[in-house]
Amino acid sequence: MRIYADNAATTRMSPGAIAAVKEGMERLWGNPSSLYSLGQEANEALTGARERIAAALGCSAKELTFTSGGSEADNQALRSAAALGARKGKKHIISTAFEHHAVLHTLRALEREGYEVTLLDVHENGLVTPEQVAAAIRPDTALVSVMYANNEIGTIQPVPEIGRICREKGVVFHTDAVQAVGHLPIRIDEENIDMLSLSGHKFHGPKGIGVLYVRRGVPFLPLIEGGAQERGKRAGTENVPAVLGMAAALEEAVTGMQTNIPRVTALRDRLIQGIRREISHCALNGDGEKRLPGNVSFCFEGIEGESLLLLLDDKGISASSGSACTSGSLDPSHVLLAIGRVHDVAHGSLRLSLGEENTEEEVDYMISAVKEVVDYLRGMSPVWRDLQEGRRQFIL
Ligand SMILES: *Cc1c(COP(=O)(O)O)cnc(C)c1O
Repeated sequence: MRIYADNAATTRMSPGAIAAVKEGMERLWGNPSSLYSLGQEANEALTGARERIAAALGCSAKELTFTSGGSEADNQALRSAAALGARKGKKHIISTAFEHHAVLHTLRALEREGYEVTLLDVHENGLVTPEQVAAAIRPDTALVSVMYANNEIGTIQPVPEIGRICREKGVVFHTDAVQAVGHLPIRIDEENIDMLSLSGHKFHGPKGIGVLYVRRGVPFLPLIEGGAQERGKRAGTENVPAVLGMAAALEEAVTGMQTNIPRVTALRDRLIQGIRREISHCALNGDGEKRLPGNVSFCFEGIEGESLLLLLDDKGISASSGSACTSGSLDPSHVLLAIGRVHDVAHGSLRLSLGEENTEEEVDYMISAVKEVVDYLRGMSPVWRDLQEGRRQFIL
């Protein structure tokens, strides 16, 4: 059995998205800026896809700028809001300690360039509150950026409430919604959002394509300079096949949501309950309710996350420990540290992110495979022996 349980890292492209990309490559390969009909057909396809994406998100097509993915959209949102704020003497930015690195590393770079960044603490349950945001806003705050749903622990933030506070105080509000779009019912124009990032490959679309949404009337600047594509906000010949694939995938995701959310949520809860039942000294990371339908994230005491992943791979399971960017390095995940897990415990983490394609049978197999692997690793672990024999205190 081969089980894919790493849908937060990327998803398999849907057949509809693949067909749309193929159509874009075979037939609509003209340059959308060219005036002859081959170019104009590509341009019309691009316009149609933009309108379909806008309809699926609840916004207007003019508010969407195509980017090379979630990372670029995050970079552009932050750098643009920072530069525009600085022109008015506002150089303070608020974000959270558990953002994706596309946000955190951009903020670190902005700090080196003279901006002041406040990173809000995250509560043990993986949530930040609107009150925290309200208390941190200052007269010189240019931007608040809080992710919609966390990529490691899946917790869903109170975005409309945070947005309302920002709007009251006249501060631009950006949300990295890469994990949320296509998985949660989002109507952008009803959620007090000024800027939003999304990425095609997290909802069964192609990699290397994303969107930066910017609400009408909110000024923003290009990150990539060059030609006048995307109304001068993002230079470079448009990736028409990828945009078509992303539009197809998003429409499918939004259409299927009503049946998929309860189905995937039931699989998630079955997996969470099974792991809790079968394995001692473990803890779910993040709130049990306010979490993405497919996200299961645990810490196991006395375990090394890396070895857990390799042994699960031997059993046919593709999973992750922390985020894809942190696996392979020895630093524990900044997200798990942000919710108060101590280093030793944070090292023993496992993320299983489920999707529409997973089944109950696979969930049951994963429960027994995780139990077997955890038992095996604990059997060899000196830390576990110390815990068992009372030379060390259990934390979980
Ligand atoms: C995957 C991800 C990104 C990066 O998106 P790419 O399209 O891979 O650049 C940014 N933020 C979050 C929360 C993500 O999960």
